[in-house]
Amino acid sequence: MAKFVLLSDNTLLYDYRDFPLLDFVPGAPGNAMPSFIYAFLKGRIAKPIDGGRLKYAPYGLRKIEASLLTKYNSNDVVVAHPDHISSAIKDDTEVVAIHTMDPLGLGPTTMSYYVLFKSHSLNAYVKQEWEKLIAKVNAARKGKKAKLIIGGPGVWEYTILRDYVEKHNIDYLFQGEMDDYSPELFEQVAAGKFDDNLFRNGYITYDESFVRFAKTDQKFISRGKGIPTFPKPESIPNIVAPSTKSITEAMRGCGIGCDFCEVTLRELRYYSPEKITQEIKVNIEQGGFDNAWLHSDEIFAYKHLQNYVPNEEALTELFTKIMSVRGVKRTNPTHGRISIPSAYPELIGKLSRIMRASRDNWIGVQVGLETGSDALAKKHMPAKTLPLKIGVDGSWQEIVWNGVRNFNRHYWRPAFTVQVGQSSETNEDNAETVALINRLSNSRVDGRPFEFTVTPLYNMPLGRIKSKDFSNQELTKSMLAVYYASYRHLAKMAARDAYRVMEGKNPLLKYTVGSTIRFGGYVMMKFIEGIARKNGVDIEKAKTYGVGNHRDIEAWNVAARA
Ligand code: SF4
Repeated sequence: MAKFVLLSDNTLLYDYRDFPLLDFVPGAPGNAMPSFIYAFLKGRIAKPIDGGRLKYAPYGLRKIEASLLTKYNSNDVVVAHPDHISSAIKDDTEVVAIHTMDPLGLGPTTMSYYVLFKSHSLNAYVKQEWEKLIAKVNAARKGKKAKLIIGGPGVWEYTILRDYVEKHNIDYLFQGEMDDYSPELFEQVAAGKFDDNLFRNGYITYDESFVRFAKTDQKFISRGKGIPTFPKPESIPNIVAPSTKSITEAMRGCGIGCDFCEVTLRELRYYSPEKITQEIKVNIEQGGFDNAWLHSDEIFAYKHLQNYVPNEEALTELFTKIMSVRGVKRTNPTHGRISIPSAYPELIGKLSRIMRASRDNWIGVQVGLETGSDALAKKHMPAKTLPLKIGVDGSWQEIVWNGVRNFNRHYWRPAFTVQVGQSSETNEDNAETVALINRLSNSRVDGRPFEFTVTPLYNMPLGRIKSKDFSNQELTKSMLAVYYASYRHLAKMAARDAYRVMEGKNPLLKYTVGSTIRFGGYVMMKFIEGIARKNGVDIEKAKTYGVGNHRDIEAWNVAARA
């Protein structure tokens, strides 16, 4: 019977009707979205295989599985389907491990919804789902010896809301990357005794001013001093079973140094194209996928040259090898910076030809736009524009505008995030963000409107998170204007693209999901418009700020192109 049972947070398993951006839905507070709409939009989890195993699991969980399999056999390690938890956890199960991203609902998207909907408690669907899962796991291991350990990028949330560790009856939480020492970790968790060369009890956290420090805590485990701070790529085993959405990774870390980003603190490491294609083959051959979704936090930094000049040879070799894997029809990277298409349109054109991008095959990529303000961009993310420089190569808005134009020209669709509530932010900074969104929303390339989405995120102060009450956290007038401009554009995109994205699905599903998205986009925009009006936002001004009339935007576009 399985010694080690691996599980995933259910919100990382739903298919979200295969519609982009619906993955954000679990972040909605329970008081904002009726449960039947949530139940419809989240879609389904793939049916179990082999008597109760998950067919697709989050990539991070697949890595832990692969690491355990370097020492144990597949009877010892089960990645269990949520419907088979009680049958997977037996008397002789030693460890149950759960992977999560946003267990307590403190992630940036979830926080942004709490503030918008003035939630009085932590009641997002993501947390509701997590607590149901924890209750199910604890019921299944009652009276048995199995220890419970939590891992994944969401572990930091338990460092903030520390009382939930006991409330959820958790034995240990692991913070960091653990692809190379999982067998040792699981054995020592089972024994309740740790080799302090390999592991240390404690975690890294931040104070109110976001200064990092290490804290000792017997419930938390991190990498010890006797092993490298981060696993080396050659010590990271390849996945052996399919990952959700056919995701694999190209690299870890980033190094650009934005002051709000934790990824930048991780050592920059690259996978070889051979390692990447080996993992893609697992997804294609065992998972039945025809796409390869390539994770990184900044794909254009893959083997980058000095000053973050993109390495054209390495990038073209990488995507050529990916597209030559038998069965791969489409690929796209998860994240990239906007300064690269701005400065290197030919590179984007070349990659698009390799990736066979077209009107019917858009390359979706997430881009942190963060702000429309030069001042904030220079303060918080001075290197994000590299190798371009704000002031020398144009304003941040001009760099962004050129980047979107070049992306769209080659059928790349950026999914932007913008932030409000950054330190030293002024109303004028937010007005610049509104202006940028409006300018992009009213621009065209090659006779087509600009294609992009934009999601506003709220920087919640740590003190407020710790107090667990967000009802008094006010979005200021200028922040609400950013929300309004973003959701106004999203409604426009939903009306334009909702049916097109569902092309190829069964007609009833296409109609139902397409209509829900279109209607949802409109309702959300109107809802935010209502809040904004009530708070004194000049809606007419927010609609046109930065673009004025049609002639103004044409003039701005010409200026930005010059
Ligand atoms: S470019 Fe992106 S991943 Fe890199 S440090 Fe900045 S925000 Fe983080």
